[in-house]
Amino acid sequence: MELPRRKAMGLFAAGAATVALGGSATAATGSGAFVIRDARVFDGERVLPHASVLVADGRIRAVGEVLAAGVPVHDGRGRTLLPGLIDCHVHLNETARADALRFGVTTELDMFGDPSGLAEARRQRRGHARTGQADLWSAGFGVTVPDGHPRGPGFPRLTPGADPDAFVGERVAEGSDFIKLVIEDGSPEHPFPTLTPAQARAVVQAAHRRGRLAVAHAEQLHNTRIAVDAGADALVHVWTDTEATPEFAAALRAAGTVVVPTLSVYDCGASADSLLADPRITPYLSAPQRESLTKRSTRCRPSFLRNALANVRRLHAEGVPVLAGTDATMPGAAHGPSMLTEIAHLVTAGLTPAQALAAATSVPAKHFALSDRGRLARGLRADLLLVEGDPTTDITALREIHTIWKNGYPVERMPV
Ligand SMILES: [Zn+2]
Repeated sequence: MELPRRKAMGLFAAGAATVALGGSATAATGSGAFVIRDARVFDGERVLPHASVLVADGRIRAVGEVLAAGVPVHDGRGRTLLPGLIDCHVHLNETARADALRFGVTTELDMFGDPSGLAEARRQRRGHARTGQADLWSAGFGVTVPDGHPRGPGFPRLTPGADPDAFVGERVAEGSDFIKLVIEDGSPEHPFPTLTPAQARAVVQAAHRRGRLAVAHAEQLHNTRIAVDAGADALVHVWTDTEATPEFAAALRAAGTVVVPTLSVYDCGASADSLLADPRITPYLSAPQRESLTKRSTRCRPSFLRNALANVRRLHAEGVPVLAGTDATMPGAAHGPSMLTEIAHLVTAGLTPAQALAAATSVPAKHFALSDRGRLARGLRADLLLVEGDPTTDITALREIHTIWKNGYPVERMPV
């Protein structure tokens, strides 16, 4: 295995725009090589109107003018090739990672979940084996207080006298890739206890001490301020109770905070309804996906999406990085298809289609340090999405998926 791979590397490392396979075709075929030819390519950052991509050994070997002989060729004409999508806010259910992958989401970031599978998830995401699942990074159990959000038993909570640093240390020992803190005090009618500002600061510092990002749940402006003041690296919702002032947007920019707005859970089911009515989507939905898309939150208000879109518009204009995330499996958001509508929401909020696609690929890869993915470039993982048409000008074209590859293998799209 080693020799052909090194031979191939040497051949393609020439770096020229033209890469000829010729004599190494047999070795390349043996390692699952193929070419996607003559596609429009969105490489995670910019659009190449006409390019080809060579894959071998589960990695991208060349992007540009690729002349391949003796390897399977996929016709990219009239189609657009993109990096696999990265959903920056999910909560797993049993079928989540398979459901996500069937819609081109090749990586999921879990923002509060059971850590028991994380060692295995880490092994999978480092390898290049054929898989029917999206790769996973996870917060594991988030940091919240007794009787705080989220409700329910089954996970540890930071009690008033407990040491936040030790608590975070336990999460890291369980496999948390980053630390999630929950700042949520409910509504005046239903108040919850939540982390104090001092606890929030201590949690963020404990995460940073261990080289972990600190990501915060906050859905109201006053809670968001606590998260930002605490030094959180990412907000994994945008606040929906009011519109941002220009000063606050500038403060986020200055702090280097990134935002995952999760507009999918603030549109009160509108994007879910559109997915459930779309014949490009429905054949590929599993029962759990249908269930997620059919459920509705009773607390959603039309003002949520209005405020959220206005906030994203202002943050983006200010230069705050915006990242795509759905909050699947929450009501109205399904693993996989909801990313297609989340990205469309970002366009509604003022991102160009290419910027919205970057928000689902290269931007999360950069901010979550996912160094092997999120772009189409030589040496990166061959997580690929080929769609009909041109989503860089019409974002709804994302719904017409032609082929998905994970680790260089085509993905079976029908649910089991
Ligand atoms: Zn969530």
